Amino acid sequence: MKKGIGTKCVQGGYRPGNGEPRQIPIIQSTTFKYATGEAMGKLFDLEASGYFYSRLQNPTCDTVAAKICEMEGGTAAMLTSSGQAANFLAIFNICSCGDHFVSLASIYGGTFNLFSVTLKRMGIDVTFVTPDSSDEEIDAAFRPETKALFGETIANPALNVLDIERFAKIAHRHGVPLIIDNTFPTPANCRPIEWGADIVTHSTTKYMDGHGSCVGGAIVDSGKFDWTKYPEKFPGLCTPDASYHGITYTERFGIEGAYITKATAQLMRDLGVTPAPMSAYILNLGLESLHVRMKRHCESAYAVAKFLESHEKIAWVTYPGLEGADDYELVKKYFPNGTCGVISFGVKGGREAAATFMSKLEMIAIETHVADARSCCLHPATTTHRQLSDEELVACGVGPDLVRLSVGLEDAADLISDIENALNNI
Ligand SMILES: *Cc1c(COP(=O)(O)O)cnc(C)c1O
Repeated sequence: MKKGIGTKCVQGGYRPGNGEPRQIPIIQSTTFKYATGEAMGKLFDLEASGYFYSRLQNPTCDTVAAKICEMEGGTAAMLTSSGQAANFLAIFNICSCGDHFVSLASIYGGTFNLFSVTLKRMGIDVTFVTPDSSDEEIDAAFRPETKALFGETIANPALNVLDIERFAKIAHRHGVPLIIDNTFPTPANCRPIEWGADIVTHSTTKYMDGHGSCVGGAIVDSGKFDWTKYPEKFPGLCTPDASYHGITYTERFGIEGAYITKATAQLMRDLGVTPAPMSAYILNLGLESLHVRMKRHCESAYAVAKFLESHEKIAWVTYPGLEGADDYELVKKYFPNGTCGVISFGVKGGREAAATFMSKLEMIAIETHVADARSCCLHPATTTHRQLSDEELVACGVGPDLVRLSVGLEDAADLISDIENALNNI
């Protein structure tokens, strides 16, 4: 039976039998017992499936990964210790030294740094394109050694919306998968696989956990990208793996299982970016109410954005979902139920006025975080980007007056009066 997203949030991934726990069990064990070495050897050779060491796989983490897999409509999924780890593994699973990929430029700062500095040190090159580039300009970024196209559904912090179908078409005509970081809308509001994305990643630290409790990440495979059509491009998936006695992932696990099995068997084994079972359990508590919370985050953010738009001390407001915005048509198409709870806006009077505004807030806290139950905000010009001049700030898309506000689950009326009071005090 086809289930709605709310049902998947609450019950996905776990179906207890008679007398078994209703809530998912926390298997707080590093290792698992076997009667014979032979039985265990089969696991090591990937000839049988089962657990043997929690760095590779743990039942609690797998249960939660299975839920996220159902929510996104994929065929296989895994949890990672952070969103950074998820995006790193997603790329590194198909890119080696000498390879290249194309990425949207407006992405999370941590991911931008991972791509532009750290992956470069490993010999993996990236070309950044902007969302308003023409198809021809984006096509020109592809090379024979290009292995993926990467973007965010709603970019953090620029808040621009990706035309997923368009970018899926571009990726596919170059024979590479489209990898989408779906952190901001979550599968409650958008499921990129339904629009042609091949791999979906998450920082579960944000709305999925939603309570500011646990850093974590996830990777979901749509099972739709046919690696075997391009064996010379994806040798790691289509030719024998010497570290597993010559198994070929696509032959053994099919196109629906090869990518995640390889990422688990090779990359988790060697890099160990594994979440703790307890963290997976806490993440699952967040997932159970995700659809209800997202609705509230979006309703309140819209109300706050409308208030800001009408205030004379506010220079501009960006919120995906405000009527008349440049990408409003894309928002209607991809996000009929809402986008996310993050707004950015400019306070008239620039750097000074924005800093004063922030200091006058009482309920909304100053944090370098977004997307949890408690509202928070950040003024990049006086915190994360304080070393930059006003000109440099403008050049990287974060003007001196920009305030990023993450609207939480408090009463919208209380948030608005906190903001109004702070604006009156500038
Ligand atoms: C926060 C974030 C990340 C990084 O995730 P961590 O869990 O902090 O490692 C990646 N992508 C997006 C869109 C994010 O907002």
